[in-house]
Amino acid sequence: MISKDVLINRFISYIKIDTQSDPNSSETPSTKKQWNLANKLVSELKQIGMQDVEIDENAYIMATLPANIAHKVPVIGFISHFDTSPDFSGTDVNPQIIENYDGKDILLNKELDIVLSPNYFEDLLQYKGQTLITTDGTTLLGADDKAGITEIISAMEYLINNPDIPHGKIRVGFTPDEEIGRGAHKFDVDKFGAKWAYTMDGSQVGELEFENFNAASAKIYVKGKMVHPGYAKDKMINSIYIAQDFINSLPRLETPEHTEDRQGFFHLSDIQGDVEETQLEYIIRDHDKEHFEARKDMMRDLVSEINSQYEREVIKIEIKDQYSNMREKIEPVMHIVDIAEKAMKALNILPIIKPIRGGTDGAQLSYMGLPCPNIFAGGHNFHGRYEYVPVESIQKAVAVIVKIAEITSEKYKER
Ligand SMILES: [Zn+2]
Repeated sequence: MISKDVLINRFISYIKIDTQSDPNSSETPSTKKQWNLANKLVSELKQIGMQDVEIDENAYIMATLPANIAHKVPVIGFISHFDTSPDFSGTDVNPQIIENYDGKDILLNKELDIVLSPNYFEDLLQYKGQTLITTDGTTLLGADDKAGITEIISAMEYLINNPDIPHGKIRVGFTPDEEIGRGAHKFDVDKFGAKWAYTMDGSQVGELEFENFNAASAKIYVKGKMVHPGYAKDKMINSIYIAQDFINSLPRLETPEHTEDRQGFFHLSDIQGDVEETQLEYIIRDHDKEHFEARKDMMRDLVSEINSQYEREVIKIEIKDQYSNMREKIEPVMHIVDIAEKAMKALNILPIIKPIRGGTDGAQLSYMGLPCPNIFAGGHNFHGRYEYVPVESIQKAVAVIVKIAEITSEKYKER
């Protein structure tokens, strides 16, 4: 097992480098500062003895750990992202290490009175007695997904230092801009050359995910007619009221705040308007493909129905598909999930298999021809000041990567 100190030092050296991505940039990487960590990762991969270490013009990093066995084994990969969320500052991250956590409140910041408390974040209680890394309350931590990077590099180093553990060829991929939904966009699946891969980007210990939302966005434009309110009878058309009718005609309980597990929703995320013109922005989410299509149809039907009440078109809708549930691509190759599950069980980690209420880069990669379930990286409360990661969880994720490599090798030996 790799010592906690090595993991802590490695992880902290990554989170100290600000790599926040920017959705408003069209460059790749979206921010120049992501190069700072990318270049460091390249030299580190070389330093631990990885082969074919390459970084392309968009800062996508790939490297190889050659096989150490004679029999043929499919090439597998491990992927994580080095950017952090634009939702919260990642500048000057000042980590705090809490050893032997006692299960009580953690004072993150005395001056600002910011407390990480198990009263709000009950998951903390699972980690009594463990070593936690937290923020100082003013930034995010960046465990999403620098914990994943720490785990992959540490697992590769472990395999290099322990050549008696059999494994096939392993590919490693680190990407920019996952947090703005573009981590997979410029990922060269052919060059990566793996039969399948795992993103190390989940949350708590045991998480194993191969199902995510089908996702679309919808923009609704309502066109009214402004007339002097004193002379408006039978003339004015108030676009705000039409928008309100639209909003109220969608099922009120099928919203993020009223749904969980596999329940889908409509989410009204923005509204701007006056009498003349109102715009609504929605996102549509559903794990089930048919339900997902039905949701889009429901919105379109509603638009036609409202229009039929007026002499001219008053409302328009534009729906754009965003990403799809990877389940469709994983089910035909379920053995790749089984291997991960087997690895966890062999390490006494209880696999938690549940649908993601969101998307992952793995979903996009799965549709690009690289089936890619998601495995826990260990952190909690991503994208904010309460983010933390237990070092023991990082340690377990390293062990899972090593075990997956070993089990894959064994599995193909039997054939
Ligand atoms: Zn992530």
